[in-house]
Amino acid sequence: MKVIVLGGDGFCGWPTSLKLAKEGHEVTIVDNLSRRAIDLELSSGSLTNIASIRDRIKVANEKIGKIDFHNIDIAKDFAGLRNLIADVKPDSIIQFAEQRAAPYSMIGDSERRYTVDNNIVGTHNVCSAIVEVDPSIHLIHLGTMGVYGYSKEFGKIPEGYLDIEIKSTAQDTQILYPANPGSVYHMTKCLDQLIFQFYHKNWGLKVTDLHQGIVWGVETAETKLDPALVNRFDYDGVYGTVLNRFISQAANDVPLTVYGIGGQERAFIHISDSARCLQLAVENPPADGERVRIFNQVSEVQSVKGLAQILADQTGAEVQFVDNPRKELAENELEVANDGLRSLGFEPVLLNTDLIEDVKFIGNETKHNFDKANVLSSPKW
Ligand code: NAD
Repeated sequence: MKVIVLGGDGFCGWPTSLKLAKEGHEVTIVDNLSRRAIDLELSSGSLTNIASIRDRIKVANEKIGKIDFHNIDIAKDFAGLRNLIADVKPDSIIQFAEQRAAPYSMIGDSERRYTVDNNIVGTHNVCSAIVEVDPSIHLIHLGTMGVYGYSKEFGKIPEGYLDIEIKSTAQDTQILYPANPGSVYHMTKCLDQLIFQFYHKNWGLKVTDLHQGIVWGVETAETKLDPALVNRFDYDGVYGTVLNRFISQAANDVPLTVYGIGGQERAFIHISDSARCLQLAVENPPADGERVRIFNQVSEVQSVKGLAQILADQTGAEVQFVDNPRKELAENELEVANDGLRSLGFEPVLLNTDLIEDVKFIGNETKHNFDKANVLSSPKW
Protein backbone atom coordinates (compact mmCIF):
# COMPACT_ATOMS: atom_id res chain seq x y z
CA MET A 1 0.00 0.00 0.00
CA LYS A 2 1.02 3.64 -0.33
CA VAL A 3 1.03 5.50 2.98
CA ILE A 4 1.70 9.17 3.76
CA VAL A 5 3.00 9.59 7.31
CA LEU A 6 2.47 13.15 8.56
CA GLY A 7 4.87 13.86 11.44
CA GLY A 8 7.07 10.93 10.39
CA ASP A 9 10.25 12.44 11.88
CA GLY A 10 8.81 12.24 15.43
CA PHE A 11 9.01 9.76 18.30
CA CYS A 12 6.06 7.62 17.10
CA GLY A 13 6.14 8.57 13.40
CA TRP A 14 9.72 7.52 12.67
CA PRO A 15 9.53 3.90 13.97
CA THR A 16 6.08 3.56 12.39
CA SER A 17 7.44 4.68 9.02
CA LEU A 18 10.30 2.16 9.29
CA LYS A 19 7.91 -0.63 10.30
CA LEU A 20 5.56 0.08 7.37
CA ALA A 21 8.46 0.22 4.90
CA LYS A 22 9.83 -3.05 6.32
CA GLU A 23 6.41 -4.67 5.75
CA GLY A 24 6.63 -3.65 2.08
CA HIS A 25 4.50 -0.50 2.07
CA GLU A 26 5.64 2.61 0.15
CA VAL A 27 6.05 5.40 2.68
CA THR A 28 6.10 9.17 2.13
CA ILE A 29 7.03 11.13 5.24
CA VAL A 30 5.83 14.72 5.60
CA ASP A 31 7.31 16.75 8.47
CA ASN A 32 8.19 20.42 8.99
CA LEU A 33 10.85 19.45 11.58
CA SER A 34 9.17 21.69 14.16
CA ARG A 35 10.01 19.25 16.96
CA ARG A 36 13.71 19.63 16.24
CA ALA A 37 13.19 23.42 16.43
CA ILE A 38 11.36 23.09 19.78
CA ASP A 39 14.36 21.09 21.11
CA LEU A 40 16.48 24.21 20.51
CA GLU A 41 13.81 26.54 21.93
CA LEU A 42 13.65 24.52 25.19
CA SER A 43 17.43 23.88 25.29
CA SER A 44 16.50 20.26 25.76
CA GLY A 45 16.34 17.47 23.25
CA SER A 46 16.57 13.79 22.56
CA LEU A 47 18.79 11.75 24.88
CA THR A 48 19.72 9.61 21.88
CA ASN A 49 21.76 11.28 19.13
CA ILE A 50 19.28 11.36 16.27
CA ALA A 51 20.58 11.62 12.70
CA SER A 52 19.52 14.43 10.35
CA ILE A 53 16.36 13.65 8.39
CA ARG A 54 18.53 13.41 5.27
CA ASP A 55 20.74 10.69 6.78
CA ARG A 56 17.72 8.89 8.25
CA ILE A 57 16.06 8.67 4.85
CA LYS A 58 19.25 7.63 3.03
CA VAL A 59 20.01 4.78 5.45
CA ALA A 60 16.35 3.69 5.67
CA ASN A 61 16.28 3.29 1.87
CA GLU A 62 19.51 1.26 1.94
CA LYS A 63 18.57 -1.00 4.86
CA ILE A 64 14.79 -1.18 5.12
CA GLY A 65 12.55 -0.16 2.24
CA LYS A 66 11.05 2.67 0.22
CA ILE A 67 10.74 5.93 2.20
CA ASP A 68 10.54 9.42 0.74
CA PHE A 69 10.53 12.77 2.61
CA HIS A 70 8.85 16.16 2.05
CA ASN A 71 9.26 19.19 4.30
CA ILE A 72 5.74 20.68 4.44
CA ASP A 73 4.00 22.52 7.27
CA ILE A 74 0.55 20.95 7.08
CA ALA A 75 -1.05 23.78 9.07
CA LYS A 76 0.39 26.54 6.89
CA ASP A 77 0.86 25.11 3.39
CA PHE A 78 -2.49 23.66 2.36
CA ALA A 79 -1.64 23.73 -1.37
CA GLY A 80 1.63 21.85 -0.76
CA LEU A 81 -0.23 19.20 1.23
CA ARG A 82 -3.08 18.83 -1.26
CA ASN A 83 -0.69 18.62 -4.26
CA LEU A 84 1.42 15.99 -2.55
CA ILE A 85 -1.66 13.86 -1.78
CA ALA A 86 -2.76 14.22 -5.42
CA ASP A 87 0.73 13.16 -6.66
CA VAL A 88 1.26 10.24 -4.28
CA LYS A 89 -2.33 8.87 -4.45
CA PRO A 90 -2.01 7.15 -1.04
CA ASP A 91 -4.28 4.41 0.27
CA SER A 92 -3.88 5.80 3.80
CA ILE A 93 -2.65 8.94 5.53
CA ILE A 94 -1.45 8.74 9.14
CA GLN A 95 -1.74 12.01 11.07
CA PHE A 96 0.93 12.25 13.81
CA ALA A 97 1.80 15.90 13.02
CA GLU A 98 0.52 17.75 16.05
CA GLN A 99 2.16 19.53 19.00
CA ARG A 100 1.87 16.69 21.44
CA ALA A 101 3.09 17.75 24.87
CA ALA A 102 0.44 18.70 27.45
CA PRO A 103 3.06 20.60 29.52
CA TYR A 104 4.23 22.56 26.44
CA SER A 105 0.65 23.58 25.69
CA MET A 106 0.32 24.96 29.24
CA ILE A 107 3.54 27.08 29.36
CA GLY A 108 1.84 30.35 28.38
CA ASP A 109 -0.14 32.31 25.82
CA SER A 110 2.06 31.73 22.75
CA GLU A 111 2.34 27.96 23.42
CA ARG A 112 -1.45 27.66 23.95
CA ARG A 113 -2.17 29.46 20.69
CA TYR A 114 0.53 27.60 18.76
CA THR A 115 -0.86 24.25 19.94
CA VAL A 116 -4.42 25.14 18.92
CA ASP A 117 -3.44 26.73 15.58
CA ASN A 118 -1.05 23.94 14.65
CA ASN A 119 -3.17 20.98 15.72
CA ILE A 120 -6.65 22.08 14.73
CA VAL A 121 -5.75 23.78 11.45
CA GLY A 122 -3.33 21.00 10.49
CA THR A 123 -5.83 18.19 11.12
CA HIS A 124 -8.62 20.11 9.43
CA ASN A 125 -6.37 20.78 6.40
CA VAL A 126 -5.73 17.04 6.07
CA CYS A 127 -9.47 16.27 6.10
CA SER A 128 -10.20 19.04 3.62
CA ALA A 129 -7.38 17.97 1.28
CA ILE A 130 -8.63 14.36 1.31
CA VAL A 131 -12.17 15.33 0.30
CA GLU A 132 -10.73 17.56 -2.45
CA VAL A 133 -8.46 14.84 -3.85
CA ASP A 134 -10.13 11.48 -3.12
CA PRO A 135 -12.57 10.88 -0.22
CA SER A 136 -11.85 7.15 -0.28
CA ILE A 137 -8.38 7.70 1.27
CA HIS A 138 -8.31 6.22 4.77
CA LEU A 139 -7.29 8.77 7.43
CA ILE A 140 -5.69 7.35 10.57
CA HIS A 141 -5.33 9.89 13.36
CA LEU A 142 -3.47 9.65 16.64
CA GLY A 143 -5.78 10.72 19.39
CA THR A 144 -5.12 10.20 23.08
CA MET A 145 -6.65 8.42 26.07
CA GLY A 146 -6.67 11.91 27.62
CA VAL A 147 -9.83 12.82 25.64
CA TYR A 148 -11.87 10.68 28.06
CA GLY A 149 -10.52 12.25 31.27
CA TYR A 150 -9.47 9.85 33.98
CA SER A 151 -12.53 9.05 36.04
CA LYS A 152 -14.58 5.91 36.53
CA GLU A 153 -17.77 7.99 36.35
CA PHE A 154 -19.06 5.94 33.38
CA GLY A 155 -17.29 2.67 34.31
CA LYS A 156 -14.81 0.93 32.00
CA ILE A 157 -13.73 3.28 29.20
CA PRO A 158 -15.22 2.03 25.94
CA GLU A 159 -13.75 2.57 22.45
CA GLY A 160 -14.99 6.07 21.65
CA TYR A 161 -18.75 5.64 22.05
CA LEU A 162 -20.80 5.38 25.23
CA ASP A 163 -24.04 3.34 25.51
CA ILE A 164 -26.77 5.52 27.02
CA GLU A 165 -30.49 5.44 27.60
CA ILE A 166 -32.44 8.65 26.84
CA LYS A 167 -34.76 9.03 29.84
CA SER A 168 -37.54 10.95 28.05
CA THR A 169 -37.99 8.30 25.33
CA ALA A 170 -36.52 5.26 27.10
CA GLN A 171 -34.45 4.75 23.94
CA ASP A 172 -31.03 3.08 23.98
CA THR A 173 -28.39 4.73 21.84
CA GLN A 174 -24.67 5.51 21.62
CA ILE A 175 -22.99 8.90 21.82
CA LEU A 176 -19.39 10.02 21.43
CA TYR A 177 -17.88 9.58 24.91
CA PRO A 178 -18.11 12.93 26.78
CA ALA A 179 -14.86 14.83 26.21
CA ASN A 180 -12.98 15.79 29.37
CA PRO A 181 -9.58 17.31 28.51
CA GLY A 182 -6.91 18.09 31.12
CA SER A 183 -4.76 20.51 29.09
CA VAL A 184 -4.91 22.69 25.97
CA TYR A 185 -3.18 19.88 24.08
CA HIS A 186 -5.87 17.40 25.15
CA MET A 187 -8.52 19.98 24.27
CA THR A 188 -7.24 19.99 20.65
CA LYS A 189 -7.62 16.20 20.51
CA CYS A 190 -11.23 16.54 21.71
CA LEU A 191 -11.90 19.12 18.98
CA ASP A 192 -10.28 16.83 16.38
CA GLN A 193 -12.99 14.28 17.17
CA LEU A 194 -15.75 16.69 16.14
CA ILE A 195 -13.97 17.47 12.87
CA PHE A 196 -13.94 13.74 12.06
CA GLN A 197 -17.59 13.23 12.97
CA PHE A 198 -18.63 16.05 10.65
CA TYR A 199 -16.37 15.09 7.73
CA HIS A 200 -17.64 11.54 8.00
CA LYS A 201 -21.29 12.63 8.13
CA ASN A 202 -21.00 15.02 5.20
CA TRP A 203 -18.41 13.48 2.87
CA GLY A 204 -18.21 9.90 4.15
CA LEU A 205 -14.56 10.40 5.16
CA LYS A 206 -13.11 7.06 6.24
CA VAL A 207 -11.45 7.65 9.62
CA THR A 208 -9.73 5.54 12.26
CA ASP A 209 -9.03 7.55 15.43
CA LEU A 210 -6.56 5.79 17.70
CA HIS A 211 -6.80 6.92 21.31
CA GLN A 212 -3.29 6.07 22.31
CA GLY A 213 -1.98 5.56 25.82
CA ILE A 214 1.32 6.99 27.05
CA VAL A 215 4.11 5.63 24.88
CA TRP A 216 7.29 4.33 26.50
CA GLY A 217 10.56 2.78 25.34
CA VAL A 218 12.87 3.83 22.56
CA GLU A 219 13.91 1.03 20.25
CA THR A 220 12.06 -1.14 17.77
CA ALA A 221 13.41 -4.00 15.63
CA GLU A 222 13.93 -1.53 12.76
CA THR A 223 15.50 1.41 14.66
CA LYS A 224 18.16 -1.02 15.97
CA LEU A 225 19.41 -1.80 12.46
CA ASP A 226 21.77 1.21 12.15
CA PRO A 227 22.84 4.12 14.42
CA ALA A 228 21.37 6.52 11.83
CA LEU A 229 17.94 4.96 12.40
CA VAL A 230 17.87 5.41 16.19
CA ASN A 231 14.63 6.86 17.55
CA ARG A 232 14.35 10.10 19.53
CA PHE A 233 14.00 9.74 23.32
CA ASP A 234 12.60 12.69 25.24
CA TYR A 235 13.22 12.66 29.00
CA ASP A 236 12.63 16.27 30.00
CA GLY A 237 9.71 17.57 32.06
CA VAL A 238 7.98 18.99 28.98
CA TYR A 239 8.17 16.27 26.29
CA GLY A 240 9.40 13.25 28.27
CA THR A 241 6.52 10.87 29.00
CA VAL A 242 6.43 9.56 32.56
CA LEU A 243 7.99 6.12 32.14
CA ASN A 244 10.70 7.44 29.82
CA ARG A 245 11.59 10.07 32.43
CA PHE A 246 11.90 7.26 34.99
CA ILE A 247 13.97 5.11 32.59
CA SER A 248 16.43 7.97 32.03
CA GLN A 249 16.73 8.49 35.80
CA ALA A 250 17.18 4.76 36.54
CA ALA A 251 19.82 4.50 33.79
CA ASN A 252 21.73 7.41 35.30
CA ASP A 253 21.51 6.37 38.97
CA VAL A 254 19.38 9.29 40.17
CA PRO A 255 16.06 8.98 42.08
CA LEU A 256 12.83 8.46 40.11
CA THR A 257 10.73 11.60 40.67
CA VAL A 258 7.03 10.78 41.13
CA TYR A 259 4.56 13.70 40.94
CA GLY A 260 2.38 13.99 44.08
CA ILE A 261 1.55 10.61 45.62
CA GLY A 262 1.70 8.91 42.19
CA GLY A 263 -1.84 7.59 42.60
CA GLN A 264 -2.90 8.34 39.02
CA GLU A 265 -3.66 5.27 36.91
CA ARG A 266 -2.81 5.70 33.22
CA ALA A 267 -2.75 3.50 30.10
CA PHE A 268 0.63 2.63 28.55
CA ILE A 269 1.98 1.16 25.33
CA HIS A 270 5.51 0.31 24.16
CA ILE A 271 6.81 2.11 21.07
CA SER A 272 7.12 -1.13 19.08
CA ASP A 273 3.48 -1.95 19.89
CA SER A 274 2.46 1.53 18.77
CA ALA A 275 4.10 0.95 15.37
CA ARG A 276 2.50 -2.52 15.11
CA CYS A 277 -0.97 -1.08 15.84
CA LEU A 278 -0.51 1.49 13.08
CA GLN A 279 0.40 -1.30 10.68
CA LEU A 280 -2.80 -3.15 11.67
CA ALA A 281 -4.90 -0.02 11.15
CA VAL A 282 -3.35 0.64 7.70
CA GLU A 283 -3.85 -2.95 6.54
CA ASN A 284 -7.44 -3.20 7.87
CA PRO A 285 -9.34 -0.05 6.87
CA PRO A 286 -12.93 0.45 8.05
CA ALA A 287 -15.69 -0.83 5.78
CA ASP A 288 -17.36 1.66 3.41
CA GLY A 289 -19.98 3.65 5.33
CA GLU A 290 -18.70 2.55 8.75
CA ARG A 291 -18.91 5.35 11.35
CA VAL A 292 -15.69 6.98 12.58
CA ARG A 293 -13.82 3.98 13.95
CA ILE A 294 -12.27 4.56 17.36
CA PHE A 295 -9.80 2.16 18.96
CA ASN A 296 -8.04 2.50 22.29
CA GLN A 297 -4.39 1.90 21.45
CA VAL A 298 -3.22 0.70 24.84
CA SER A 299 -1.41 -2.32 26.24
CA GLU A 300 -1.98 -2.03 29.99
CA VAL A 301 -2.98 0.23 32.87
CA GLN A 302 -0.56 1.04 35.69
CA SER A 303 -0.42 3.64 38.45
CA VAL A 304 2.47 6.10 38.31
CA LYS A 305 3.81 4.97 41.70
CA GLY A 306 3.37 1.33 40.61
CA LEU A 307 5.51 2.01 37.54
CA ALA A 308 8.21 3.65 39.63
CA GLN A 309 8.17 0.63 41.97
CA ILE A 310 8.52 -1.87 39.09
CA LEU A 311 11.54 0.06 37.82
CA ALA A 312 12.99 0.47 41.31
CA ASP A 313 12.67 -3.29 41.92
CA GLN A 314 14.44 -4.08 38.65
CA THR A 315 17.24 -1.50 38.88
CA GLY A 316 17.67 -0.62 42.56
CA ALA A 317 16.77 3.05 41.85
CA GLU A 318 15.38 5.18 44.68
CA VAL A 319 11.83 6.64 44.42
CA GLN A 320 11.29 10.29 45.42
CA PHE A 321 7.89 12.02 45.68
CA VAL A 322 7.86 15.68 44.49
CA ASP A 323 5.11 18.35 44.25
CA ASN A 324 2.79 17.68 41.32
CA PRO A 325 3.13 20.56 38.80
CA ARG A 326 -0.18 19.55 37.12
CA LYS A 327 -3.80 20.20 37.97
CA GLU A 328 -5.13 16.64 38.11
CA LEU A 329 -6.71 14.20 40.55
CA ALA A 330 -4.20 12.92 43.12
CA GLU A 331 -5.44 9.40 42.45
CA ASN A 332 -7.89 7.64 40.17
CA GLU A 333 -8.82 4.20 38.97
CA LEU A 334 -8.89 3.35 35.27
CA GLU A 335 -10.18 0.45 33.22
CA VAL A 336 -9.96 0.54 29.44
CA ALA A 337 -11.36 -1.59 26.61
CA ASN A 338 -8.89 -2.44 23.81
CA ASP A 339 -10.84 -5.15 21.96
CA GLY A 340 -10.74 -3.41 18.56
CA LEU A 341 -7.01 -3.68 17.88
CA ARG A 342 -6.86 -7.06 19.62
CA SER A 343 -9.51 -8.32 17.19
CA LEU A 344 -7.11 -7.32 14.36
CA GLY A 345 -4.29 -9.37 15.91
CA PHE A 346 -2.63 -7.02 18.41
CA GLU A 347 -0.78 -8.83 21.20
CA PRO A 348 0.58 -6.30 23.69
CA VAL A 349 4.15 -6.27 25.02
CA LEU A 350 3.77 -5.85 28.76
CA LEU A 351 5.94 -3.65 30.91
CA ASN A 352 8.32 -6.17 32.39
CA THR A 353 9.34 -7.66 29.07
CA ASP A 354 11.37 -4.83 27.52
CA LEU A 355 11.84 -2.43 30.38
CA ILE A 356 15.26 -3.49 31.49
CA GLU A 357 16.53 -3.60 27.88
CA ASP A 358 15.51 0.03 27.41
CA VAL A 359 17.19 1.05 30.69
CA LYS A 360 20.42 -0.68 29.60
CA PHE A 361 20.32 0.89 26.14
CA ILE A 362 19.69 4.37 27.51
CA GLY A 363 22.36 3.90 30.18
CA ASN A 364 25.03 2.64 27.78
CA GLU A 365 24.40 4.86 24.80
CA THR A 366 23.30 8.17 26.20
CA LYS A 367 24.90 8.91 29.60
CA HIS A 368 26.88 11.86 28.23
CA ASN A 369 23.67 13.68 27.14
CA PHE A 370 21.73 13.29 30.42
CA ASP A 371 21.07 16.42 32.49
CA LYS A 372 19.18 15.54 35.68
CA ALA A 373 17.74 19.07 36.05
CA ASN A 374 16.02 18.64 32.67
CA VAL A 375 13.72 15.92 34.04
CA LEU A 376 12.10 18.41 36.42
CA SER A 377 11.52 21.19 33.87
CA SER A 378 7.69 20.90 33.73
CA PRO A 379 5.68 24.14 33.84
CA LYS A 380 3.06 24.40 36.62
CA TRP A 381 -0.63 24.67 35.84
P1 NAD B 1 6.56 14.15 18.25
O1 NAD B 1 6.48 15.56 18.70
O2 NAD B 1 7.79 13.38 18.54
O3 NAD B 1 6.28 14.07 16.67
C1 NAD B 1 5.38 14.89 15.98
C2 NAD B 1 6.02 15.22 14.64
O4 NAD B 1 5.11 16.05 13.90
C3 NAD B 1 7.31 16.02 14.79
O5 NAD B 1 8.33 15.42 14.02
C4 NAD B 1 6.96 17.41 14.27
O6 NAD B 1 8.05 18.07 13.66
C5 NAD B 1 5.82 17.12 13.30
N1 NAD B 1 4.88 18.23 13.14
C6 NAD B 1 4.21 18.92 14.10
N2 NAD B 1 3.43 19.86 13.55
C7 NAD B 1 3.61 19.78 12.20
C8 NAD B 1 3.08 20.49 11.09
N3 NAD B 1 2.24 21.53 11.26
N4 NAD B 1 3.44 20.12 9.83
C9 NAD B 1 4.30 19.09 9.65
N5 NAD B 1 4.85 18.39 10.66
C10 NAD B 1 4.51 18.74 11.93
O7 NAD B 1 5.27 13.43 18.87
P2 NAD B 1 4.97 11.86 19.01
O8 NAD B 1 5.26 11.46 20.41
O9 NAD B 1 5.58 11.11 17.89
O10 NAD B 1 3.39 11.87 18.86
C11 NAD B 1 2.78 11.69 17.59
C12 NAD B 1 1.27 11.73 17.74
O11 NAD B 1 0.87 10.70 18.63
C13 NAD B 1 0.77 13.05 18.31
O12 NAD B 1 -0.37 13.48 17.63
C14 NAD B 1 0.44 12.71 19.74
O13 NAD B 1 -0.60 13.51 20.23
C15 NAD B 1 0.05 11.25 19.65
N6 NAD B 1 0.28 10.58 20.93
C16 NAD B 1 1.55 10.45 21.42
C17 NAD B 1 1.74 9.86 22.66
C18 NAD B 1 3.11 9.71 23.27
O14 NAD B 1 3.20 9.21 24.41
N7 NAD B 1 4.19 10.10 22.61
C19 NAD B 1 0.64 9.37 23.39
C20 NAD B 1 -0.64 9.51 22.84
C21 NAD B 1 -0.81 10.11 21.60
